[in-house]
Amino acid sequence: MGASDGRREFLKLAGLGGVVFASSLGVWGQALAAAGQDFFFVQMSDSHWGFEGPANPEAKNTLKRAVAAVNALKTPPDFVMFTGDLIHAAPDEAVRRQRMTEFKAIVAALKVKDLRFIPGENDAGLDGGELYRSLFGASNYSFDHKGVHFVALDNVSDPNGAIGEEQLQWLRTDLAKHDKAQPIVVFAHRPLFDLYPAWDWATKDGAKAIALLTPYDNVTVFYGHIHQDHHQMTGKIAHHAADSLMWRFPVAGSQPKRAPLAWDATHPYAGLGYTAAQSEGKAFKATVTALA
Ligand SMILES: [Zn+2]
Repeated sequence: MGASDGRREFLKLAGLGGVVFASSLGVWGQALAAAGQDFFFVQMSDSHWGFEGPANPEAKNTLKRAVAAVNALKTPPDFVMFTGDLIHAAPDEAVRRQRMTEFKAIVAALKVKDLRFIPGENDAGLDGGELYRSLFGASNYSFDHKGVHFVALDNVSDPNGAIGEEQLQWLRTDLAKHDKAQPIVVFAHRPLFDLYPAWDWATKDGAKAIALLTPYDNVTVFYGHIHQDHHQMTGKIAHHAADSLMWRFPVAGSQPKRAPLAWDATHPYAGLGYTAAQSEGKAFKATVTALA
């Protein structure tokens, strides 16, 4: 069996289907594959717990459905990362606290050892992330897993949608400890590049983060916020956006206003789902899996 057959087999065993997008990794990835270190994690995003409206008449069930879908995978992911907008914002802090507490209880049913989070602007934009951090811990951090360096960025606690100089300095110091060939995976809520600033689909100082990441050979960014899967390169860096677990947004600029797409009762969960991200040899692949 060739290496690629082995990988297809891995995907099948894991119970993952859907469209696969590859981004290029270098020799470091090959070394990981040779060491049998291939693994996958799941990205979930934009669950907007607490949202009510015609854009999702199944609002109370969609997140639970996603948890059940991930629990049904034949191979559990090494970890699950939620890339923000865990809850739907509410002006009243007590309501936000209640939604975050309910969200936590629902996702606690995920059968994974390691559950990680970053905030979205719905979670952190109204109080600079204070309530979020009191319930979920630090809003930016890094960790290492099976040879890959993971960096979680907070580009939402600043109401202007910036990372900020202090965090950029932290990123610079964090990255400096790592070999240029080591695979790096970045998590952020907003896109780091200017996808569509008119709809707030950008990070004010995202270009500074991209500049810090560009010297590294193998960088993949996973983000949310735009409620649709989207795949784009900036130089060698691959950026993958996840589907939402509440409603779909239209393609950037395809209509005058950013407003949720209508719920389609004949295809109720189309465009809502999670991303399985698999390290394999030279590539980090994002497999988008819709809820059924
Ligand atoms: Zn958002």
